[in-house]
This record gives sequence, structure tokens and C-alpha cells, in this order.
Amino acid sequence: MPKTEYWQWYVEESAPTEQHHHAIDHVYYAGRSEFQQVSVISTPVFGKMLILDGDTQSSQNDEKIYHETLVHPAMAGARDRRDVLILGGGEGATLREVLRHPDVTRCTMVDIDGLVVELSKQYLPEWSDGAFDDPRARVIVGDALAFMREDRDRYGVIISDLTEPLEDSPSNILFNNDVFGLIKSRLADDGIYVLQASTTAFHNLSLHCKMARTLRRHYRYVASFSHLVPAFDTEWAFLACSDTVDLAALDPAAVDAYCGKLAGENFFYDGQTHRRLFSLPLYLRRALAASGPVFS
Ligand code: SAM
Repeated sequence: MPKTEYWQWYVEESAPTEQHHHAIDHVYYAGRSEFQQVSVISTPVFGKMLILDGDTQSSQNDEKIYHETLVHPAMAGARDRRDVLILGGGEGATLREVLRHPDVTRCTMVDIDGLVVELSKQYLPEWSDGAFDDPRARVIVGDALAFMREDRDRYGVIISDLTEPLEDSPSNILFNNDVFGLIKSRLADDGIYVLQASTTAFHNLSLHCKMARTLRRHYRYVASFSHLVPAFDTEWAFLACSDTVDLAALDPAAVDAYCGKLAGENFFYDGQTHRRLFSLPLYLRRALAASGPVFS
């Protein structure tokens, strides 16, 4: 069989000296929104991919690992799942996962970039899988920080599915001590706040630890969990924060009972996966316990 020649490559840098090269089959969109550089491409291994400011956001073939992990541990542990808030979440897959639970009566998603939402509807409909048309979905195009300053509701679960807080990213304003306090004020007393929280690869875990240290000022329980997301080419991490629920201690049988109530089938998450997600390697436990920088 002759080897296919690829002439276009998407190169993601995880460090100035580390790169992952993806051959490109097709470019659906490449341009700039008011807020960020946006590309939608397809690659032979990962299928369609959304890329913002040079960072992979999700890929068709493994997005369920990321989105089930972001959503379901928090929803499984939540005392009240009726009203859920998503900060960011452009592709609509976080919304899709939340709406799979029959307890949910309203899920509000606030994403700053209408172009990302529209391109996701047009080119990545598998991600939202009809969630944007669900009558329980309230989709707002706007800044999540401005929304939380205006909004007076309190939510049982708040999910932060924002881009990495890089200096010139529109998500940067949502990562500081005051905003972590604001988010808590929008959470019910027994609610759970979960966020995508960067990588915990051994060479690059300072941002994750900084988020965890800062959030420990606000919550009794701050649990770190992670798994490899192949399209990101690294271990991807999350933080679950609550004053009443320690997700690391959730019983796998309770997780399986929760999963049994979801519409459709899970790809990745169940009680056994939950145990694996929250079993952290020694180097990470040490890094999380050490003192270090916090967000001011
Ligand atoms: N899985 C992703 C990752 O690995 O970083 C995050 C996915 S999602 C596409 C990130 C979304 O956050 C984007 O659609 C972006 O527009 C949105 N976003 C960034 N800053 C925001 C802000 N200030 N308010 C609301 N949405 C924001």
C-alpha cells in the first residue's frame, strides 16, 4: 500500500521544545473571532478537532473522555442537580452530558464567543447531539464573569469548561481569588464547583497546583482528578470543590447507580473509572501538598 503524503500539519506546542504533529485531512474553518483564533480541522487519527489560539479544545474520537470526566463525577456527587451552570463550553458537549440526567430542569451555558458556538453547531454537531435544541438548555453568548455579576440564582452544580487562562485569553479574568469567591457565591451551600484545571503531566503541573491551592481557601474539599486525553497528548486534570461533598470518597456503587439513570450509554465513566480518576500518583500528591504560588 503506498503511504499517503500529507502536506498540511497542525502542530501543537506543549512547551517551546515539545510538539505534537497532526496531519490534516481537511480544514473546515480557519479564522479569527473577536476573542480568539479559531480552527476546525479533521485529522486521520482524531477525526474533527476544535482548536482555539493554537490549543486543542476537543477531538471527535476522544471528546467523551474529557466531557464525561468533567461532568459526571460532580453530577454523581451532587445533592441537587436541577439547576446547572456551565461557564464556557462552546462545543455543546458539556451541555449534552449534563442534559443526559433526568433530574436536570435547566442548564445554563454562558460562552463569550458566538462564532465558536455557531461553528460547533455547523461542523461539530456530534458534540452537542441535539443539546442546543433541548428545552431545558439556556444558551447565552456573553462573558461568564459579567453573567455571574448580574445573575442572582444559585446552582447545585457549576461547571467551568473554559480555555486555559493564558495571558491573552478571554478566560484569564475568571482565574483569580475574587472570581473564585464570586463563583462560590453563585453555588448552593451544598453545591459542587468543578473545573477543567490544566495538565498534571510531571513536568508541567504548576498551574494545576496553583488553582488547587487557591481554591482550598474557599472550599473544605478540593479534589484533584485526571486522565490521559490522547488528543491533548497529556494527562488532563480537573478539580472538584465543595464544602459538603468529597468526590474522592464517592462509593463506586453509588456512581454506577447514578450512571444507570443517565439517558444513553457512557463511553468512559463508571464506578471503576471513578476510582481510577481519583487515585493520584505520588509525585502529584506531593506537589499538591507542597506550598507554592496562589492566584491573587
Ligand atoms: N476543553 C477545553 C480546553 O481544553 O481548554 C475547553 C473547551 S471550551 C471550547 C472553552 C470555551 O471557553 C471557548 O468556547 C471560549 O469561547 C470560552 N470562554 C473563554 N473565555 C470566556 C469567558 N470570559 N466567558 C465565557 N466563555 C469563555
